[in-house]
Amino acid sequence: MEKQVEQRLRGLPVSPGIAIGCLRVEARDCSAPPIHPITTEELPDEWRRFEAALVRTEEELTALKQRVEAVSGATEAAIFDAHLLFLRDRTIMSKLKSELPLRMQNIESVYYAVVQNFMEVMRSVDDPYLRSRVMDIRDVLQRVLRNMQSGNSVQRMLPPGESKCILAAYELTPGDTAELDRKNVLGFVTETGSAMSHTAILARSLGLPAAVAVPRLVMDSRTGSPAILDGYEGVLIINPTEETQERYQSLRAEREKAYRELVEMRELPTVTTDGHRVHLAANVEFAHEFESIHRSGAEGVGLYRTEFFLLGSGGSMPDEEAQYEHYRKLLEECAPHEVIFRTLDAGGDKLPFEPNAEREDNPALGWRGIRVSLSRVQIFKQQMRAILRSSAHGKAGIMFPMVSGVTEVRRTLELLDECRLELRELGLAYDEKMRVGVMIEVPGAAMMADALARYVDFFSIGTNDLTQYTIAVDRVNHRVASIFRVTHPGVVRLMARTIEAGIPTTICGEMGGDLNMLPLLVGLGATEISVGTHLLPVVRVAIRHLNYAECRNMAQRALQAEDSATIRSLSRDIALKSYPNLF
Ligand code: PEP
Ligand code: MG
Repeated sequence: MEKQVEQRLRGLPVSPGIAIGCLRVEARDCSAPPIHPITTEELPDEWRRFEAALVRTEEELTALKQRVEAVSGATEAAIFDAHLLFLRDRTIMSKLKSELPLRMQNIESVYYAVVQNFMEVMRSVDDPYLRSRVMDIRDVLQRVLRNMQSGNSVQRMLPPGESKCILAAYELTPGDTAELDRKNVLGFVTETGSAMSHTAILARSLGLPAAVAVPRLVMDSRTGSPAILDGYEGVLIINPTEETQERYQSLRAEREKAYRELVEMRELPTVTTDGHRVHLAANVEFAHEFESIHRSGAEGVGLYRTEFFLLGSGGSMPDEEAQYEHYRKLLEECAPHEVIFRTLDAGGDKLPFEPNAEREDNPALGWRGIRVSLSRVQIFKQQMRAILRSSAHGKAGIMFPMVSGVTEVRRTLELLDECRLELRELGLAYDEKMRVGVMIEVPGAAMMADALARYVDFFSIGTNDLTQYTIAVDRVNHRVASIFRVTHPGVVRLMARTIEAGIPTTICGEMGGDLNMLPLLVGLGATEISVGTHLLPVVRVAIRHLNYAECRNMAQRALQAEDSATIRSLSRDIALKSYPNLF
C-alpha cells in the first residue's frame, strides 16, 4: 500500500471557510470510479476483471465500427480503429502494470488515474491533431469503466458513514454549482476557474469554502482520501497529518468566533469616522439567502441575480404569475428594505438562455444580458410586469444588465412603459416610483454615463464584467486569472467617470467585498456597496474604520496613477492602517 504523505495543492482562494472531510474527484466529463484497497491475493482477479472489460469493449467498438461503415462508409468508421488501438495502448498498459502493485487499489481506479494522466499530457502537446484525440481517449475510458462496473461494482467510494465530501473537480459550471447538494458537499476545489467566475460567486452565496485554479488537482487527488480545504488561502491539503488536522480544527473555531463577533455589530450604521454614510446592501443569487438578509444587517438587496431562479431549475421558465409570487415573497421578507431585481442576465459564462442554441465563438461578446431580453420581448415583458406587480407589496427596484449605450436603454424603457400601461388597463397595482437603473459593465456604457444618467435613477457598477471588457481579460479563464486587475487605471477611471455622472451609484461586483479595495471605492464616491451576505459584516466594520477625507485624497491620486500595482497599494495602505485586524 502506498504511504500516505501530506500533500498541499495551491490555487486561488475564492470562498472563505474551512472544510474537513474526504475527497470526491470528478474528472473532465468522466467521474472517478469508486476506490477501495485490494490485497495481493486479489491481484489476479483484478486483472481478469479488467481483461474481461477490455474484451467487452473491443466487441462493442467492433460492432459500432461495422454499423457506421455500413451507413456512412469506411472513412467515418475509421475513428473506431483509433479507439481500438488505444484500448490496448502499450504505454497505458505498462503504466498500469507498474502502478497497480504500488497503489494496491481496485484496478479500475488505477486505470482511471493512468488514463487521466495520459490525457493531461496529450492536452499539453503542441500538435492540435494529438490534442483533439483526447476526446477519443475519454470515450474509450468511459466504455471500459462502464464495462467494469456492470460486473461486481463496488460502491465503497467513501469510508463508511462518510457521506459528506470535498468535491475536487476539473471544472464546475455555474449550473453544476447551483445544483450542488449542500447537505453532502462541504466545499469544492477545481482545476480551472477564476475568482470572478459565476462558479466562485455561487460558492460564496452557498457559503461553501472553495478554491479554484489548482494545477494537477485531478491527477493528484484520489476519491476517498482525507483532506482539508482552506478557502481563505486557497489550499487543499490531502492526507493531512494529525497535527495539521488539529491546527485547522482550532483555526476553524477561531474564525467562526471572530465572524460571530462581527455579526453582532450588524445594527451599527455604515458610516466613516468623519461621518460619511455608505449604504450597504447584499448580493443574492438564491431565494434561501433572503433569510440571511436581516441576520447580516444588510440594508436591502443591491443585486438579485434573477437568472438562477429563472433558468436554474432546468425545466421551463416560471410564468408571469409564478415570478410575481416569487418576487413578492422576497420583497415581503426583505421589508422595509429595497430589493433591486436585475432582469435576466443569461448567456456568456452564465446559464444559457436556450441550451440548444448554436455555439458562439465569443460568448462573452455575444448573445447575453439585455441583448437576449431585447430579442425575446415577450419573455422580457413578462419579467418586467412581474417585477412591477410585486412593487405594490414592497420596495422594489429594477435594473438591466450588460447595457452598452443609450439606444438599448431607450428601447428598454419603452417596453417598461408598455408594461405599466398594460397593468393599468388590467387594473393591476404597481409602484409608480419604482427606481430604475442600469448596470455599468461595458466600457462604452461607462463612457456614456453622463447621457445614461438622464434616463435612469441609479447605476450599479459590475466590476467583474467592467474589468473583463476594459482590459480584455476573460473573467473565467484561469490562464489569465493573474492579470485580471480590477485596479487597472482604465477600469478605475471608468468607475470614476460613472460616479461623476451624479446619480446614486452602487458597486455590486466582487471588488466591493475586497477589504483592500474599500478605501478606493469609498474615496471614489460610491454611494452604495453591495456584497454577498457572508462578507457584509466585515465590510461594515471596515468602512466604520475609514476616514472619508483621506480616502477621497487617495482616490484623486489613484486617478493619476499609471499602473494597477500603484493603485492597489495606495488603497491597501489605508486598509492595512485602518483595520489591520480584519484581514
Ligand atoms: C459584474 O459583472 O460585476 C456583476 C455584478 O454581474 P455578474 O457577476 O452577475 O455578471
Ligand atoms: Mg456582470
